[in-house]
Amino acid sequence: MSAPEAVVFVVGDELVDARRNDTVGPALARRLESIGCHVRSRSVLPDNVQAIVSALTQALAAEIDIVLIAGGLGPHEDDRTREAVAQSLGIELELDPKTLHRLEENYRDRGRDVPEGVRRQALRPRDAETLPSPSGTAPGFIVRRQRSLLVALPGAPREADESFTRGVLPLLRRSVAGGQTTATTVLRVAGLLAADVQRALAPVMPNSEAVRVNYLETGGEIELLLSARAQDPDEAQQQLEQVVANFESRLGGHVFARGKQSLTGVLAELLRARAWTLASAESCTGGLIGKRITDLSGASEFYVGGVITYSDEHKVRLLGVAEDTLERCGAVSAEVAASMAQGCRERLRAHVAVSVTGIAGPGGGSADKPVGLVYIGVALPDATRVARHTFGGERDAIRQWSATAALEEVRRALKDMDTLGQRVEPSEPATSLR
Ligand code: ATP
Ligand code: MG
Repeated sequence: MSAPEAVVFVVGDELVDARRNDTVGPALARRLESIGCHVRSRSVLPDNVQAIVSALTQALAAEIDIVLIAGGLGPHEDDRTREAVAQSLGIELELDPKTLHRLEENYRDRGRDVPEGVRRQALRPRDAETLPSPSGTAPGFIVRRQRSLLVALPGAPREADESFTRGVLPLLRRSVAGGQTTATTVLRVAGLLAADVQRALAPVMPNSEAVRVNYLETGGEIELLLSARAQDPDEAQQQLEQVVANFESRLGGHVFARGKQSLTGVLAELLRARAWTLASAESCTGGLIGKRITDLSGASEFYVGGVITYSDEHKVRLLGVAEDTLERCGAVSAEVAASMAQGCRERLRAHVAVSVTGIAGPGGGSADKPVGLVYIGVALPDATRVARHTFGGERDAIRQWSATAALEEVRRALKDMDTLGQRVEPSEPATSLR
């Protein structure tokens, strides 16, 4: 059985013109995905009957299994989702006396007058099933139509979430997912480009409908979102583990974590395990590495600090890079990266130092030193490693990739694995270079 398909709509003029960010749509989409549904699309609709009818009609005509719509169930004139649902299904709205009674009670309990609009909130399409009402507000409802299940939820974030959890989730687990369960996990990869990951995984890519793989790329990291569906939870988990094992064997040491842990989090653990400290010397990343590290609370336990040496003069003055090396090799070179890392390690008195020097662009590139060329140095107590990377993209992307790659180089150095990127030996290695 293939994964049930879903579409998600949220309704509200304030969401269309972005006076308010839509938080409900993404949250619902994630929750649907987590139970093994495939979310085909997600859209924001205005408080306008015609627009809602047209969107719903299209989804129903496409026989989407689950059509979820959130918002526009309030007591106001502009809350039009009920009418739109009824119109798109070609059925009447009718009053649900129980809901009306409960809503009226709710106002009276709070010592408030019952507003006129309350009757509208108690209307629902004929044959609709009323969902449990969260915190006494207008309840959502479910209508079945041939293959599709149309679900209307309140729009306010907390109410939408509660209504989905209590009223929709149990039903979807039973009916739409055909009793199947889904096991999910995330593999986090650093230091490889998406294209390299895809190439590496091609031979072991599962070709079963029941197993899904999604890529998500952010700031130089790639998340592989994996899910496996089966009748039995153990079977789903087993399938998932098989995929994880295959992927890990193809990606070598580039998988730095499984689950939520960040690259800096993993690095922090490795450093703490040795009771080691880290320092940074940055040129083209202008402090991004320091920022990434200090995003982690508790970073002071292992991170001593960093310097931003953008000019050659400061590479010399603050880090002790030899003027001669700068002149001979240029600021963007393996030699300078190594010397920056070593100088940083000594002067900031850390066990490990990482350095970055590169050309973030858009200007400043040449034939032998193009934009995107970045050298990363890692100075350890008894060795210095340098990696050469060439990143594509705009300035910001190059800087983000560089910062991630720098953290990844430190992690790999600590794990004593092969460095990523092409390892280069400086032309005249200093004695401590290796
Ligand atoms: P309800 O059916 O819960 O009454 P509604 O759309 O009819 O929903 P509104 O008064 O428009 O009710 O929305 C309630 C609050 O929730 C408003 O502050 C609104 O901006 C916010 N809200 C509605 N939809 C979303 C959404 N998708 N994401 C974030 N906030 C939302
Ligand atoms: Mg609204």
